[in-house]
Amino acid sequence: MGSGKSTLALQIHHNLSTRGLNGLLCSYLDRGGSQVSSRLGVSAPAVEVELTTDLVHIAQEANRRLGSLEYMVCDEAQFYSAAQVDHLARVVDEMGVDVHALGLLTDFRGRLFEGTARLLEVADERDELHVEARCWCGARATHNARLVGGVQVYEGDLVVVGDVSADGSENSEGEVSYELLCRRHWLRGETGRPTAPPRLGPAIVSEDPA
Ligand SMILES: [Zn+2]
Repeated sequence: MGSGKSTLALQIHHNLSTRGLNGLLCSYLDRGGSQVSSRLGVSAPAVEVELTTDLVHIAQEANRRLGSLEYMVCDEAQFYSAAQVDHLARVVDEMGVDVHALGLLTDFRGRLFEGTARLLEVADERDELHVEARCWCGARATHNARLVGGVQVYEGDLVVVGDVSADGSENSEGEVSYELLCRRHWLRGETGRPTAPPRLGPAIVSEDPA
């Protein structure tokens, strides 16, 4: 969600693979298919993970195919089930593979994603990605608002891949999009759309929830 997360996933994968290490890049629900892509237009082929995917099996298979497996980079790990995050822990502990899992903290309802909650419980290390994401009011953007037809909603399916226009222009009725907001404006449902109060700061360019 404009957090630079997918870009970081691609960077880690690039850095490790150019050192000659064997690894897997994993994506989940990427709009471009089986790849990880960033808004910067960079992408790389990836293994697509679904809710039924056994990540230990995936790792073992890659280990056989590549001769060794040194790392995994998992983008969109917030969508993983708790069981899948436990798979990742087994891949680390039983196979000696470094696993980098990247995910959003909270969903559009403001609650921890299941995968993220489990990651916080079992990860050896955690880093918060510090980026200059700003709400339209200029405050630091900490919340991810889901908009349906331009109106913020707080209920609905957890996984809806939105589509937004690059210039942040209003979507047609019923279309799902996402916008980064500060907590105050997230709670109030005040987005930086044309119908919202006057802008005091630059509007966030809408980005996909990846
Ligand atoms: Zn704000």
